Amino acid sequence: LFAGPVDFLKGVVAMDGLPPADRAEICFAGRSNVGKSSLINALTGRKALARASNTPGRTQEINYFTLGERHYLVDLPGYGYAEAPVAVVEKWQRLLKAYLAGRQTLRRAFVLIDTRHGVKAVDEEILRLLDGAAVTFQVVMTKADKVKDKDREKVLDQVRGALARHPAAFPEIVLTSSEKGDGIATLRAIIAGIG
Ligand code: GDP
Repeated sequence: LFAGPVDFLKGVVAMDGLPPADRAEICFAGRSNVGKSSLINALTGRKALARASNTPGRTQEINYFTLGERHYLVDLPGYGYAEAPVAVVEKWQRLLKAYLAGRQTLRRAFVLIDTRHGVKAVDEEILRLLDGAAVTFQVVMTKADKVKDKDREKVLDQVRGALARHPAAFPEIVLTSSEKGDGIATLRAIIAGIG
């Protein structure tokens, strides 16, 4: 799939823990339960790769994976946990801001949006952060198999409307289903084209 090994590299809790900025990287962000782990696993063809990042205690780490020899794949913790303590959220937000603004080799963020729900207020927060950091982001719709064709267009219109308000948005939206495999090859090709 990708030239070279796909493996978990490390979990990072502070900027000085980032691996050397020696290759292009892409990051994945999304509300918890959006289907991020499933998508990363489908993308890499590794069934349980992203599961480690979902275990408690790992949830505030920036998880690095090697994606072959040319890219790092960065799994950002799922946001929108109602029960997270304020101090934890604030610490995480500081790290996230520092990462997004300071990581020279970060080429694109993929923001995952559930096809059933569209862009929610909690998603808008990360989109604003990405605008502020001038990180180009691309929306990936997840769980497309859960929505009927005729209902999808309505959601896509809502998403397009939301993206129009964000200068850092990449216009093309990728529709995926990790369950059915839809859109996975497209997403791989997009990533392969990011240098
Ligand atoms: P995360 O919290 O964002 O990492 O979400 P997960 O990948 O753990 O997925 C959350 C739930 O959604 C799980 O029950 C998955 O089985 C389910 N799920 C994820 N992707 C899909 C999909 O493409 N289609 C369907 N039908 N369910 C999915």
